[in-house]
Amino acid sequence: MSVATENAYAERPDRAGMHSRIPDFYTEDRGTRLETVADRCDLTEAQVAALDTDGETAAVVDGLSENVVGSIALPVGVATNFVVDGEDRLVPMAVEESSVVAAASKGAKLARHAGGFTTDVTGQVMVGQVHVVDVPDPEAARVRVLDRAEAIVETANDQGVLVSHGGGCRDVTARVVETRQGPMVAVHLHVDTADAMGANAVNTMVEGVAPLVAEATGGEVSLRVLSNLADRRLARAHCRVPPESLVDGDDDRDGETVRDRIVDAWAFADADEYRAATHNKGVMNAVDALAVATGNDWRALEAGCHAYAAQGGYSPLTTYEVGDDGTLVCGIELPVQVGTVGGATAVHPAARAAMGILDVDGAAELAGTVAALGLAENLASLRALVSEGIQEGHMKLHAENVARQADAPADLVEEVAARMVAEGDVRESRARELVDELA
Ligand code: NAD
Repeated sequence: MSVATENAYAERPDRAGMHSRIPDFYTEDRGTRLETVADRCDLTEAQVAALDTDGETAAVVDGLSENVVGSIALPVGVATNFVVDGEDRLVPMAVEESSVVAAASKGAKLARHAGGFTTDVTGQVMVGQVHVVDVPDPEAARVRVLDRAEAIVETANDQGVLVSHGGGCRDVTARVVETRQGPMVAVHLHVDTADAMGANAVNTMVEGVAPLVAEATGGEVSLRVLSNLADRRLARAHCRVPPESLVDGDDDRDGETVRDRIVDAWAFADADEYRAATHNKGVMNAVDALAVATGNDWRALEAGCHAYAAQGGYSPLTTYEVGDDGTLVCGIELPVQVGTVGGATAVHPAARAAMGILDVDGAAELAGTVAALGLAENLASLRALVSEGIQEGHMKLHAENVARQADAPADLVEEVAARMVAEGDVRESRARELVDELA
């Protein structure tokens, strides 16, 4: 324990006797767990009520994770203006950060002028890894695995997952990987996961083929698990924006200049990892929000997208250039491991409702929409960054949050926020002064 943590405990004598050992906690029902935690942590009634959940959601969240005591409500916004492959679409987004949904809607509006987004996906293929150690002759073992590829594919497809839904294991590859612990063999199953994200299904398959792989390699199978670097499950989206759409009446620059500054901003991200990280964070703002709203695994998307962006040096997931006709040509390519079945997508009532808003027909269409959304978000952010900056758009909601932090009563939040924005002074202490003044 660090000195800082010890001091923190010393300052909180009420917690000194509380320890985190709660025998059989996981066997209690959710309500009892919440009472136990409330009791140990001296939660107020309001805090308990804020965590508590009821109805269908209570039963579902209890079944989704472990030691569940309640659930947390995130704002679900709906991004407008999207045309994806010729179809109008409303896009549900669950995110606590202000301006993310507004930027997606703005980006989609920019793309809409020239027909919206066109998308394509490379397929729904995930890689499952069987990791083999202590292999006597790794190169010969790799070749023996390839010789037995057909039997391995057959065994993977005998595990009772995916095949009846049109998916299944399609191929086997093997590599020798030089590591600090010596050479190892990595056997990859390439699995078409159909409309599922597929992690559980692929994990079942790699566990199922492990004995065959052990026999073929003469080594010891260790890890058997999906890879989140879904580079055979890429989604792409493109759009064109006429330069005049990039400016409005207030702008003192012309559309061509804003267009060129956007291309410069992309080139900067392409050349500079500090900028690229934030550029891609902006893309993931939207991608994750759609994943959370639809019950998809946003950690998998994060892992996959950043690993993909890092191949050959960390770089932006989007591209911008000036087309022959002078339009801004925008593109994105990213690995999208999402499903319309499985996981929480079809179980959580709010995720089901979000899928109802989205109205996509299968995982490929969802992946294309994810790509279009990521591109829309990035386009709008870059346009704002090279123009008025992002704080102007952020400020109203941010100021309202600062007002709430300063305990502004609900009927004063907007006014306190508006005054702080007008003064250009958005601070909690200023909000408190204004609350005192206006109350
Ligand atoms: P799942 O097992 O819940 O659903 C997949 C199953 O749905 C398939 O096996 C199939 O039997 C069935 N199915 C029904 N209709 C289908 C269709 N049209 N297409 C495909 N399958 C269909 O979930 P999953 O998608 O295998 O795994 C996703 C879950 O795994 C997520 O909750 C994720 O968080 C979790 N997970 C992720 C990782 C990781 O990313 N590294 C690891 C472990 C688990």
